[in-house]
Amino acid sequence: MAPALDLETEALGVLRRVFGYDAFRGDQREIIEHVSGGGDALVLMPTGGGKSLCYQIPALVRAGTAVVISPLIALMQDQVDALRALGARADFLNSTLDFDTRRAVEASFLAGDLDLLYLAPEALGTPGVQRLLDRGNIALFAIDEAHCVSQWGHDFRPDYLALSMLHERWPNVPRIALTATATSATHAEIAKRLQLEGARHFVASFDRPNIQYRIVPKNEPRRQLLHLLRTEHAGDAGIVYCLSRASVEKIAEFLVENGITALPYHAGLDARTRAANQSRFLREDGLVMVATIAFGMGIDKPDVRFVAHLDLPKSVEGYYQETGRAGRDGLPSTAWLAYGLQDVVQQRKLIDGSEGDLAHRRNLAAHLDAMLALCETVECRRVQLLAYFGQQSGPCGNCDTCLAPPESWDGTIAAQKLLSTVLRLHRERGQRFGATQSIDILLGKKTDKVTQHRHDQLSVFGIGTELSESEWRAVVRQLLAQGLLAVEGDYGTLALTEASKAVLSKQREVKLRREPERVATAKAARSR
Ligand code: ADP
Ligand code: ZN
Repeated sequence: MAPALDLETEALGVLRRVFGYDAFRGDQREIIEHVSGGGDALVLMPTGGGKSLCYQIPALVRAGTAVVISPLIALMQDQVDALRALGARADFLNSTLDFDTRRAVEASFLAGDLDLLYLAPEALGTPGVQRLLDRGNIALFAIDEAHCVSQWGHDFRPDYLALSMLHERWPNVPRIALTATATSATHAEIAKRLQLEGARHFVASFDRPNIQYRIVPKNEPRRQLLHLLRTEHAGDAGIVYCLSRASVEKIAEFLVENGITALPYHAGLDARTRAANQSRFLREDGLVMVATIAFGMGIDKPDVRFVAHLDLPKSVEGYYQETGRAGRDGLPSTAWLAYGLQDVVQQRKLIDGSEGDLAHRRNLAAHLDAMLALCETVECRRVQLLAYFGQQSGPCGNCDTCLAPPESWDGTIAAQKLLSTVLRLHRERGQRFGATQSIDILLGKKTDKVTQHRHDQLSVFGIGTELSESEWRAVVRQLLAQGLLAVEGDYGTLALTEASKAVLSKQREVKLRREPERVATAKAARSR
C-alpha cells in the first residue's frame, strides 16, 4: 500500500502543476487523500466551496478513468473543455453526441486514454454503457449533484435512483458523491439510496459570510429592483430570478429599457439562444441574467455580485442554492428577495394543484412553510438559514435583520379583527374571499364588490382603519407564515386553521414584525 505521505505530495503536486493553485481549501486535502487512497466519500459543501477538485485530482492521481455522473448535460462540453485546457484528458458521453463521436469516445476510454469521462445518469441505465464500463479501467465514480437522488428534495431525478447499482456492479471502485444541498434529511437520504452509509462523510460549513441576506416586502417589484441595481450594483453582474417564463421576458425587457444590459433565460427559449445568453453572461462583465431556476446549476462565474429574487423560492434549499451563486470569489455580494402576499397565494395554489399524492403535497407545503418562516423571522437570517441545515451560529451582522433589527409589535388585536372577518364571511354568509376583500371590509371601503355583497352591513366593516392597506397585507402574510391563517383553492381564498381559534378566543398572543421597507421607502421618497 502506498504510504499516505506520497498521496499527499502527489495530490499537492497536481493541485499546483495542473490547476495552478497554491493550497487546498477547507476539507479538500482530506477528501482528496481519502478518495485517492480508494475510500468512499460523501461530500456536503456549499456552492463555490471547491467540490470539483475533490474528484478531479483523485481522477488524475489514480490509475484508470474517473467516471463522473452529472445531470448537467448542457455544461459537459464546458467542463470537458476547461479540463482539456489544463492538459487533462477528458471527454463525455451523452445523448447529444452523434454515432461517430460516441464511438471515438468509447474507444479512447477503452484504450485507457481518458482521465475523466462525464456521463449523464440516464446513460448508466443502458446495458451498452454498462458493458463499456465493464471493459475499461475505472479509477473512481464521482456522483455530482448527489441530492438529485432525494425524492423529497427539489431536484429529484428518477435516473439517480439507479446509481445504487454502481456499488453492486463495481464493488471495488471507490465512489465520491457531492452536493451543495444538505439538510440532515437529504444527507441521510443520499447516504441510504447511494449505499454510502459506510463512506466517510465530509460536511463543510454552509456559511457564506460574504453574502448579505436581505428579504423585503414586495410593493412595486420593478421599482424596487431597479433601485437596488442602480444604487448598489451599477455595472455589476447578477442574476434576477422570476417564477415564470413570462415574467422573465417582461423583467428583462424592463431592465433593458432602463439602460441595464440584461438577458433572459428560461426553458422556453430555444437551445441556441439559451446557450448564447449563458455564454455571454459567463464571458462578459456586468451582465444581468433574468432567469427562471432553469438557470444556474453548475454555473461557475466567480464575480456574480447579486442574486435577486422577484418571486418566493419554493424551499429554503432552493433559496440557498440560488443565492449561493453570488460571491463565489469571496467578495461582498447581495442576496435580495422581494416577497409579498401574492407569492404565498400563488405557491399554495401550485401546491394544491400539483400532481402526486397527499404526502407529496404535504412535503411541498412543509418546504414552503420553512421558506416563509425565513422571510418573516425577526432574528438573524443567517442564523435561521444555517439552523435549517443543522448548523448552529450567532447573529451575523451582515443581514437585514442584524443591520436594522425589525421592531416587533403586538398584533393580537389586528389578528383577531382579521380572523373574525374571515370567520364572519364564512359563518354568516357561507362565503370565502381572498385577502383583498377582507382588507377592504376592515378598512371600511365601499368598493363595488363590497356593496354588491352587502359586506358593509357586517359588524366588522370599518373596524380596522388604524392600519393602512399595506400594513394589513403584512398582517395577512405573517399570519399565513405563522400558520394562523390559510389560503385555499384556485382563488386563494382565506380560511381559518386550528391555530386561529386560540387567537380568536384570546388564548394566544400574536407577535408581528414591523415593515422596515416602509421606513426605507419613505426616506427615498423624501430625498428624491
Ligand atoms: P463547487 O463545485 O463546490 O460549487 P467549484 O469546484 O466550481 O465549486 O469551485 C469554485 C471555484 O473555486 C472555482 O473557480 C475553482 O477553480 C476555485 N477553487 C477550488 N479549489 C480551489 C483552491 N484550492 N484554491 C483556489 N481556488 C480554488
Ligand atoms: Zn444576521
